[in-house]
Amino acid sequence: MSIENVGEKMSEVRNVVIIGSGPAGYTAGLYSARAMLEPLMFAGYMSGGQLMLTTDVENFPGYPEGIGGPEMMVELRSQAERFGLEVQDRNVESVDFSTRPYKVTVEGEEFLTHSIIISTGAESIWLNAPGEAEQKGRGISTCATCDGAFFKNEEVLVIGGGDSACEEATFLTRFASKVTLIHRRDVFKASTIMYERAANNDKIEIKTFRQVKEWMANDKGLTGAILEDPRDGSTEEINVTGAFIAIGHKPITAFLDEQIETDENGYIVHKQHTMTSIDGVFAAGDVVDTRYKQAITAAGMGCQAAMDAEKWLEEYVH
Ligand code: NAP
Repeated sequence: MSIENVGEKMSEVRNVVIIGSGPAGYTAGLYSARAMLEPLMFAGYMSGGQLMLTTDVENFPGYPEGIGGPEMMVELRSQAERFGLEVQDRNVESVDFSTRPYKVTVEGEEFLTHSIIISTGAESIWLNAPGEAEQKGRGISTCATCDGAFFKNEEVLVIGGGDSACEEATFLTRFASKVTLIHRRDVFKASTIMYERAANNDKIEIKTFRQVKEWMANDKGLTGAILEDPRDGSTEEINVTGAFIAIGHKPITAFLDEQIETDENGYIVHKQHTMTSIDGVFAAGDVVDTRYKQAITAAGMGCQAAMDAEKWLEEYVH
């Protein structure tokens, strides 16, 4: 940390501010804390990121029996805090990269920092089919872990063909009497193990070449959907009281207000190692990753970003 005369008042300038708190953010926090950079993290109101919405993580090395997503985030956080990561569970509203040190605004309060690591991850994409907005939270959800238990002995629908859809469908069989998994094609993006786990579950029916044309509801909430075959436009009705949309995610970058270069889908672009188009601003995890999107790859990238930030600070600031 350093003290600088900024405008009228003397302000503390952090070495590194980390924005976002999934595996990428906590690993960046761990490494930068151990490098004595006294990092400050804005973890967001819902700290922990996507893994807070996951059940079992079975593919993070070091957990032979698997570990719950939320439990793992608590452990990553406490490990980083043990070495001095300061965490505030608040959302960053905006950033200003026009002058150095950079400005980070959090609930109207301004923080100055020499470098930033962005690890805000991604959020669920909605289908936006007719009737969807009205039934959000009344039967339509993007999080089986959060809302699955509301559908005990009821029939539910899951939409998507990736790992998320297969995982959510399998998880929902704990509660629902029947789960119908629909996908718009007959080729699944999901890994074989996740697909087969769903396909071999007696409570799950998989229907390919189906997409939601329209949601159906009454005054109590969701009652079903009109499904369409994209090949010929033919339709059928399905009666369900719950529906879980699992069609992927989009990066969380709105607070950046286009100050950083992104690709056409909004993912931040790395320019030099993990550094973005702005000097001293690094990015790691799902906010960058268009390909792997795994907890372990996010953690690895968080480590890289912290090491890159440390090197950059050494070279250009201290
Ligand atoms: P994904 O792999 O991008 O799959 C999204 C699926 O939704 C695709 O099958 C896609 O169809 C479908 N889709 C997209 N837009 C749609 C629309 N408008 N209407 C209907 N269907 C639509 O996303 P994901 O399943 O969320 O997985 C993201 C990443 O997280 C992956 O890398 C995955 O491996 C990882 N993940 C891992 C685990 C695990 O290992 N435990 C669990 C969850 C997720 P098309 O196939 O036709 O494009």
